[in-house]
Order: sequence, then C-alpha cells, then structure tokens
Amino acid sequence: MVARRGPQPGVTTASALFAWEGAPDGVPSRRLVTRCALARVCGACGRPLGHPIAFVGTSDEVARNAFHLPPLHDGCVDAVRALPAPVPLTVVRTAGFEFVRPGSGDADPLPRFVPNSLL
Ligand SMILES: [Zn+2]
Repeated sequence: MVARRGPQPGVTTASALFAWEGAPDGVPSRRLVTRCALARVCGACGRPLGHPIAFVGTSDEVARNAFHLPPLHDGCVDAVRALPAPVPLTVVRTAGFEFVRPGSGDADPLPRFVPNSLL
C-alpha cells in the first residue's frame, strides 16, 4: 500500500492553498498570484472572488495599502493566517483592487495588490 502525502486534519499546509501550490518554502507562486489577480480568483481555494475581497498583510503593507499575498474570500482568510508567518498578519476588506506590476527602478520589485475602497 502506498502512503499518500497530504495535509493532515486540522493542519494547514501552504501547499494545500491554491496560490501556494508547489511552493514548499511558504511563499506563494508568483505565476499563481498573477493568475489570481487576472482571473479574479481566491488565492486560497481558487474559486471566483465575490464581495468583500480580503487581503492579509503586515502592518507595513497595511500602511502602504499594497499587499503581496493574493486576494481571498473572507472565509478563506483564516487558512492563510494559519500559515507560519514571521510577523502577525492583519486583515483588510475591500470592494475591489488594482493589480500593480512593478516598473523598472521600482523600490518594490514584486507585483502587488492595491485595495481601492476599504470596507
Ligand atoms: Zn477562497
């Protein structure tokens, strides 16, 4: 009998989440984060986003209103917040967002999400 690898009940593993697939280091795949942005799907479950849209981020990301983790359903936030993180993550909710790709010389080299109407 072949043992199947998979998440254990009650344990959230990053690779079980849509945008983190194949990312054992706990950092979401840039390709999948971009897909979440363009297809407007949830970074945790991969299903279409509704309203509100939730983002989780560090206090710095909240202050800048620029988030690097993909958009989430409100109900999927806990799965992402359960991941090991070096700092506590704050949740913000919005009706919409812009996806900003870094320009050359941009101080932030990563694509990011800018909520446009915080709830
Ligand atoms: Zn979801």
